[in-house]
Amino acid sequence: MDQLPIFMNLQGEHCLVVGGNAVAARKAELLKKANADVTLVTRELEGEAYRMVADGYLEWRDATFQRRYLDCVRLVIATTDDEDEARRVYNACIERGIPVNVADVPTMCTFILPGIVDRSPMTIAVSTGARSPVLARLVRRRLESLIPPSYGRLTTLLERFREKAKRCIEGVDNRQRFWEAVIEGPIGNMAMAGREKQAAAALDERLENRITEPDTGEVYLIGAGPGAVDLLTNQAQRLLSAADIVVYDRLVSPAIVDLARREAERIYVGKTAGQHALDQQAISQLLVDKARQGCRVARLKGGDPFIFGRGGEELEAIVQADIDFQIAPGVTAASGCASYAGIPLTHRDHAHSVRFITGHRHNGLLQLPWFDLARCSDTLVFYMGLGSLPEICSGLVDHGREPTTPAVVVEQGTTANQRVIRATLADLDQQVADVRPPALLIVGEVARLSRRFAWFAGDREQSAFMPGYCIDGRGPHDPTQATIGRHDDEDSVTTV
Ligand code: SAH
Repeated sequence: MDQLPIFMNLQGEHCLVVGGNAVAARKAELLKKANADVTLVTRELEGEAYRMVADGYLEWRDATFQRRYLDCVRLVIATTDDEDEARRVYNACIERGIPVNVADVPTMCTFILPGIVDRSPMTIAVSTGARSPVLARLVRRRLESLIPPSYGRLTTLLERFREKAKRCIEGVDNRQRFWEAVIEGPIGNMAMAGREKQAAAALDERLENRITEPDTGEVYLIGAGPGAVDLLTNQAQRLLSAADIVVYDRLVSPAIVDLARREAERIYVGKTAGQHALDQQAISQLLVDKARQGCRVARLKGGDPFIFGRGGEELEAIVQADIDFQIAPGVTAASGCASYAGIPLTHRDHAHSVRFITGHRHNGLLQLPWFDLARCSDTLVFYMGLGSLPEICSGLVDHGREPTTPAVVVEQGTTANQRVIRATLADLDQQVADVRPPALLIVGEVARLSRRFAWFAGDREQSAFMPGYCIDGRGPHDPTQATIGRHDDEDSVTTV
């Protein structure tokens, strides 16, 4: 370690920024955030620095740097372009033992300004020892997205009870165990979800009863998205990596299950060959039992748990058992597949709204509000519709939708195996014989745009449509390319 990271208390301390450019304004702002008393020393004030002085936010000395300005000064940052002035600032500070940072000149810095993730009162600082400010910035951005602003709320709560914990719980080890259980358990999650009052009450009760052991468990209902790992939300990742047990379905991609801790127990409850590994009631019971044993249970579901995901049924059991829970939404198949197939679901020139419909047969029957679906101008998205696809297409046409209405099937959307089959209601069913689940059917004028807006090609689709793809967005125009079905440019099915 080249430098020791420390956090400096500058409350009410006098600090100088030598310079009046945009960098000076940024550094001054930073010092003000730490409640320092800041003066700019410069003959010329530019843009933001000028505004800050005009607003009375900063003091300004209209002068070049003088040694005597350092009286009573605690810290100095120089951003001046004048090398000679920068050197004078540095030498004078060294002489007086005042911490100094000359921007972009590592040899004239006695301290470094790190990249900062501000989750006040929590602050995270990142430094590469001035070797690569850009790398520090990138790492900082990653941390920003990993550590939500709600950590600030959590920190404030923990601070409030710190003294009381010292009084109630004896021994450093016990206190450490206590705080870990609080931060990683339901109390921490409650605070981060904005329920600070409830969290404070629960924390107080724990302290009064001197409970240092982890709480009863929790269940995290997590949407794993349609397949691509990078569609997982940060919230989902955070909860998944905290879990002791992961209960997952068939549609959850293995790469996402892999993100759980190595020691976490993994339980598969998906369907195989038409059979549930566990029926719905048994799954709900499993979640309840494991949470009661004190485990943090991640219930991973494909897409979004509340969209054809039976999330509501499982929650019912969890609530009834009075178990704490959190819900992390996921990218539902309709959003994921539409984006990855280039279909703006509610493009206002073509659709007023979008409907998510299940094409699943109930007791062998497909009961849908046909007239309504056929006559409306909505985009229709059918989940679980592969087995009923011919019936859905003909049902819509029989009840009044134009046979030429664009209809697209997205197979294994967002994954490397994605394939998009573009057709119309009249001819789609001839193209889907080899399609394997999961697959989504999107019907409506917006689906016509799928060729124009195509951008993602799974490994299987690549060979089918990339050769003719032209960068101006008009889509494939290779005359040798095989097309089946309708032969106008926009709607033809592109298969090999
Ligand atoms: N909760 C899930 C849906 C579960 S129902 C969600 O929000 O997405 C299962 C149906 O979702 C499948 O039959 C299929 O129609 C659709 N589906 C899920 N993932 C898909 C994917 N990657 N590609 C295409 N369709 C998908």
